[in-house]
Amino acid sequence: MVLLGLAYFVAASAAVALTRFEGGVACLWIANALLLAALSSRLFSDWLAPMLVCGAAGMAATTFFGLGFGPALPLALSNLTEVAISAALLARWRLRKDALGSLSQFSAFVLAAGLAGPAVGALAGGLTASLASSTPLVSNMANWFLGHALGALAFFPVFAFILNGDIKRWVGGAGRRQLSEGIAVLTLVGLTTLAVFVQNRFPILFVPILPVILATFWLGRLGAAVSVVLIAIIGGALTARGMGPIYLIEGGTLAHVQFFQFYLAATVVSALPIAAELKRRKRLGDRLRDSEARYRLMTDNSTDIVMNLDPNGVIRYVSPSIVQIGGYSVEALLGTPVIELVMSEDRERVRAVHVAALGAPAQTFMVEYRGVTADGTVRWFETTTRSVLDEGGRIVGVVSAIRDISHRKLVEAELTRAATIDPLTGLYNRRGFNAELDRRLAEARGSRLKGCLAIFDVDHFKRVNDTYGHDAGDQVLESFASIAKRTVRDSDLVGRLGGEEFAIILPGVTIDQAHYICDRLRIAVGETALFWGNASIRVTVSAGVASFDGHANPDRILKAADTALYAAKNAGRDRLMIAA
Ligand code: GH3
Ligand code: MG
Ligand code: MG
Repeated sequence: MVLLGLAYFVAASAAVALTRFEGGVACLWIANALLLAALSSRLFSDWLAPMLVCGAAGMAATTFFGLGFGPALPLALSNLTEVAISAALLARWRLRKDALGSLSQFSAFVLAAGLAGPAVGALAGGLTASLASSTPLVSNMANWFLGHALGALAFFPVFAFILNGDIKRWVGGAGRRQLSEGIAVLTLVGLTTLAVFVQNRFPILFVPILPVILATFWLGRLGAAVSVVLIAIIGGALTARGMGPIYLIEGGTLAHVQFFQFYLAATVVSALPIAAELKRRKRLGDRLRDSEARYRLMTDNSTDIVMNLDPNGVIRYVSPSIVQIGGYSVEALLGTPVIELVMSEDRERVRAVHVAALGAPAQTFMVEYRGVTADGTVRWFETTTRSVLDEGGRIVGVVSAIRDISHRKLVEAELTRAATIDPLTGLYNRRGFNAELDRRLAEARGSRLKGCLAIFDVDHFKRVNDTYGHDAGDQVLESFASIAKRTVRDSDLVGRLGGEEFAIILPGVTIDQAHYICDRLRIAVGETALFWGNASIRVTVSAGVASFDGHANPDRILKAADTALYAAKNAGRDRLMIAA
């Protein structure tokens, strides 16, 4: 705290002693940047002590070197108000620790410390100075504003870096080589500035900006901030002493110092925004590197294949898991159309999903298809895909995660089979038969397709079970199934509706043809003897036949055939009946 007061006193004294011209206010005011940095490194509740210390130091400087004791208090209050406003805005906009983190942070910093604070200070301070020294109000206010704005913008970053320990951290973290490079670059900035400002033969004010840019790219925000301070101190001190190329311009000392202010402002708004933008890009680069590392970790160790495709479906990236899963080498696939890996039957579907993903950037799409591996085997894959946008929001392709689902497909197929097939006869069970009937009728819907449906039921089947046992009954059922399949055409469909009841779809046949086919089956069953131990088993069957056309309802057809079957049973069994 004593150090802060002392530093504020020295900075304020130097400013009033060296940068005051024509009796008004100082033209470069660094002291407030010091207090601003001190407040920014503290919580609001700890602001009072540094403000009191710096207020007292400022009053002392004004009393000994400036306008005297009279205006010392109002001037100190003007300074404190100015700094408090700037500090409050910096805190509010979260710039206390980092005013140079990005271009938008830098802009906010300029607004807070370079405009708002100094504007209020200039109003109060300029008025006080004019009353105390009878110098023109407008020039006092202008000088105050420019001097304080420049002082804050040029010096706050360095003071903040020092107080937050950034410089210490950088020196601690830098290697010997980095350190000596840093010192060399900053020395170059200092020496160039010195060389430019000790002469007034050539108007070479543009020269120092070159090493400043070098320092900014080499050392980042620290380099830019220190460079700006070096130019402010070296150039400012020499200009104030009447030296340097600015004296090539005609005019009084005040005009020269104001031109230097302009020069310093130009340097500040060149170097610091570049540093801020560099910092933002570095942060972006770091984030990208992290996410790239995470992504690599995932894709390289994943059992999924990750692919990037361009809008035409050409492979731009494929993760190494393709080697294990597909047997392809990554190099062989890059640049080839992904569709070549898909079985031709499924290509249309895969293409459609690719196009859909390109058309709906926020959505994820899924598609299942059969792919061909390097050794020619066909496997099922599931692809989850979504489009990739560039910074401009344009679609540059898609990214896909591809998973081998062959095993799942096998299990699914097995489950479907188990649900629709009768294990004893291998025929469709009632559920499978109904689904197939629905499907065929739906396909024929509205067309002129006609056909017939027959239901067969074994006569007195209970007796077979009762006489020869359940296993013998099973044999009879199997025997019926194989005779039925032999008797009908491949395009016909035989199913077991349950128990000893079977159904047959006979598409494209008239009722007469159906009668003929079913009667042939009935006779064949009746003529077949099944040998069971020493016994031979013979059974007869009854059947009901119904016809249908393209407008038929499946339930109604089954019902009609069943009614006819019932009639056949009632009429004495071992016969066929046609539905009314
Ligand atoms: P009907 O001439 O009137 O058709 O007489 P039925 O004895 O054939 O008729 P019912 O429906 O009374 O008897 C059918 C029998 O079929 C009863 C049941 O025990 C038997 N059954 C059902 N499913 C099976 C099977 O999977 N295997 C065997 N062995 N018997 C079965
Ligand atoms: Mg029966
Ligand atoms: Mg029955």
